[in-house]
Amino acid sequence: MTVQVRHITILGATGSIGTSTLDVISRHPEQYKVVALTGSSQIERLAKACIDHQPAYAVVLDEQAADRLQGMLADHAPDTCVLCGADALTRVATLPEVDTVMAAIVGSAGMPATLAAARAGKRVLLANKETLVLAGGLFMNAVRDSGAELLPIDSEHNAIYQVLPIAFREHPYRTSLAAAGISKLLLTASGGPFRTRSLDSLHRVTPEEAVRHPNWSMGQKISVDSASMMNKGLEVIEAHWLFNAPASQIQVVVHPQSVVHSMVEYQDGSVLAQLGSPDMRIPIAYGLAYPHRIETGVRPLNLFEVGRLDFEEPDLQRFPCLALAFAALESGGAATAVLNAANEIAVAAFLSGQIRFTDIPVLIEKTLSALPCLPADSIESLLAADGEARRVASQELATCTC
Ligand code: NAD
Ligand code: MG
Repeated sequence: MTVQVRHITILGATGSIGTSTLDVISRHPEQYKVVALTGSSQIERLAKACIDHQPAYAVVLDEQAADRLQGMLADHAPDTCVLCGADALTRVATLPEVDTVMAAIVGSAGMPATLAAARAGKRVLLANKETLVLAGGLFMNAVRDSGAELLPIDSEHNAIYQVLPIAFREHPYRTSLAAAGISKLLLTASGGPFRTRSLDSLHRVTPEEAVRHPNWSMGQKISVDSASMMNKGLEVIEAHWLFNAPASQIQVVVHPQSVVHSMVEYQDGSVLAQLGSPDMRIPIAYGLAYPHRIETGVRPLNLFEVGRLDFEEPDLQRFPCLALAFAALESGGAATAVLNAANEIAVAAFLSGQIRFTDIPVLIEKTLSALPCLPADSIESLLAADGEARRVASQELATCTC
């Protein structure tokens, strides 16, 4: 069998997802060629990845970082062209020689290049859920119009993708869940490190405790989002766009073992699930190799070691971020963009010790109430909503009574 070599750009190559992607690629050098790698602050790590993979391009945020990287690559990757700035991210996401883009920048900073990759008709491996939370309608239209191939990498959405009927999952905008015989999407959530903590004790938790996830090893922002359950809220919005699913057909199920990555309930009563060890190399490899399967280095799931699988209802009183996300999705317009931006500001403030963990939902709610119905009909209006939400949330922080 002749193997089609895939040519890849990794946006956010130095992060948790980026590093796992390079790990999977390294196991199959004959099948994958890295064309471009991008990073922001961890220049040493980016330099090492460039030396290992010899990409044609490396992208960093500014000229100072570009000079540093250039210096580190001079002897060991002299053919790598170092670029900088947001335009360079878009450029490497749309290169004609690239067929596959891993979108693994964290936060709304990842949206423009991810959208550009979709508009250019690439295979988009979507880890950056914030793109869908911020600009889901525009992004899905771009995928449909360009014929881009969209493969979800977030483990829950990847699990759902794997157990959906093929015709539906590849073109969800052509039909509805009901027409495909589906009654519900069951999105599993580990419950994070504070699943069993009392409401009274949550205001005392520290950033160190919040980023210590019981099952997954991830970047800082998504780890805090998992602790507040905002991550699940963002994932509800993500599922809404990816699978053309109304909020009423998405149910969050707390499952502390993180073995069942999500499920689909069909109208005949069947529930199909995807199971595996909690290791992001599984969904990453699925996206890279689709429709084939490749080896990932992940230890096979040992059900005897797992022993039991538990399921619980989420507690919206202790985790109000989840309710805020459902409410923003129901509000429509730019409400989810406002939610996302306010959350990014709140998480950064919590990580730097400015606010308490329990202030995160308070700040988000205040921002949402201050900006009730901003339009979401263009990329400009969404970026304006994102900017406005950051301004309001920062102002609230400055006069913080929370
Ligand atoms: P991370 O913090 O480990 O890495 C983020 C990457 O983005 C780094 O390469 C960093 O250099 C880059 N970056 C940060 N700010 C940037 C900016 N302003 N401009 C350009 N690049 C920037 O994050 P992660 O955990 O790898 O998550 C990446 C994305 O994948 C997030 O959207 C997250 O929600 C999603 N995701 C992650 C996991 C996981 O297990 N880590 C699982 C599901 C989804
Ligand atoms: Mg997830």
